[in-house]
Amino acid sequence: TEISPGLLPRPRRLLLLVNPQGGRGLALQHTHAHILPMISDADISFNLVQTERQNHARELVQDLSLDEWDGIVVISGDGLLYEVINGLMERPDWKEAIQKPVGILPCGSGNALAGAINFSGGFEQALTVELLLNCTLLLCHGAVEPMDLVSVTTCSGTRSFSFLSVAWGFISDVDLESEKYRHMGSARFTLGTAVRLASLRTYRGRLSYLPATDGHRPISRSITLAANGSLANIRQHAPLHRTISDMGLCEERNVVTKRNSPTSVTDTGELPSFEASPSPAFLDSDSFTFDTAPGAPPSATHSAEFTNTRQMYGPLDNLLVPLDEPVPQDWVTLEGDFVLVLAIYQTHLGADLFMAPFASFGEGLIHLFFVKAGISRAAMVRLFLAMERGSHFEYPHFTHMPVRAFRLEPLTHKGVMTVDGERVEYGPIQGQIHRRLCNLITG
Ligand code: ADP
Ligand code: MG
Repeated sequence: TEISPGLLPRPRRLLLLVNPQGGRGLALQHTHAHILPMISDADISFNLVQTERQNHARELVQDLSLDEWDGIVVISGDGLLYEVINGLMERPDWKEAIQKPVGILPCGSGNALAGAINFSGGFEQALTVELLLNCTLLLCHGAVEPMDLVSVTTCSGTRSFSFLSVAWGFISDVDLESEKYRHMGSARFTLGTAVRLASLRTYRGRLSYLPATDGHRPISRSITLAANGSLANIRQHAPLHRTISDMGLCEERNVVTKRNSPTSVTDTGELPSFEASPSPAFLDSDSFTFDTAPGAPPSATHSAEFTNTRQMYGPLDNLLVPLDEPVPQDWVTLEGDFVLVLAIYQTHLGADLFMAPFASFGEGLIHLFFVKAGISRAAMVRLFLAMERGSHFEYPHFTHMPVRAFRLEPLTHKGVMTVDGERVEYGPIQGQIHRRLCNLITG
């Protein structure tokens, strides 16, 4: 007898994005030699797309018809997944889009997330082809786990979503300086570390954080929306209320309009303020433009334009206040000279850097680490060697704190900061955890 095709599970369909330049430039070769044979055997159907330039993947997922895919998998380093995640978050339908499972097959020089997946899959720490085979096997198995993302805001107000780390000092310097040893694959970090150690330096800064204890309340702030043109026709709060929700800036239930009487709306450009709790802190630094046609009925739809479209969507940063305001009272602030500051939310900082052994994908924690000035070069070497085994916690200079949010303000004028291993503008930076915002294929 025949089984009706409708009763058979349909094969999984994966979109594979391969960066031919990733790591040692072997991504395509590895794809054909190892990846495609395994996923074909697993009865997974796929489309293979080569990325042609920076931001190609980011743009591609912005316009992708997501229904056609069961998952998006990058064949590259962490950098390409960062693009995919941020591309998904830049879509108007980000809330659904970011739930599309994403995966990574390590073919870059920075393969931290693959290291974490390999570890959670029960494999021994591995590099290069061994790591790739483990991760491909897990991908074929296909189980999906929710993963936290951290919303990171830099001094210009740009917001992005990070799945791995924010680094300053020693680690970001190694990341960037070792770019020139890219042809060496992950060995580039080892060499970069050695070079950096020879000229160990310190960085002055202020580090603030919200400890991960339960019971803190989201910040309640009022937002004032400035408006253009005549506002006399806005007689109700409802349309604006709706506009804000439609933009995905805050959820309807989080917006409480003040009980101003409609007549308190004036022509002077002042709108009644909205009390939002939790508040979209990032709104404050940007202006909205509401075009309100004079004489339009109160029920007219008011269009709103956000000055920075990259920040238009995403969940509220309910734990943060704008970077130019002091941190909330329940935060802790430390000022001093640091060798490194690292916020990480995965077990691994590199395929063989077992930074936070206790981390997991969807626990809702940022692991904040720092090393203060005064550590000797020899101690730094021992620390980094121990990191390979995850036994660096025995070292006294090394401090770890689980937090929900942090702010880092460099007081040293020159330096490098990285988010997920990619360089970002240097200056004050802050971030907060968004628990289980995306889904990761972990096998
Ligand atoms: P690696 O770990 O080797 O750095 P990544 O995945 O981080 O690998 O990729 C590095 C960067 O390469 C990413 O920022 C991505 O935008 C960029 N990229 C993607 N495709 C190409 C390409 N065809 N040519 C050059 N750069 C590319
Ligand atoms: Mg990279």
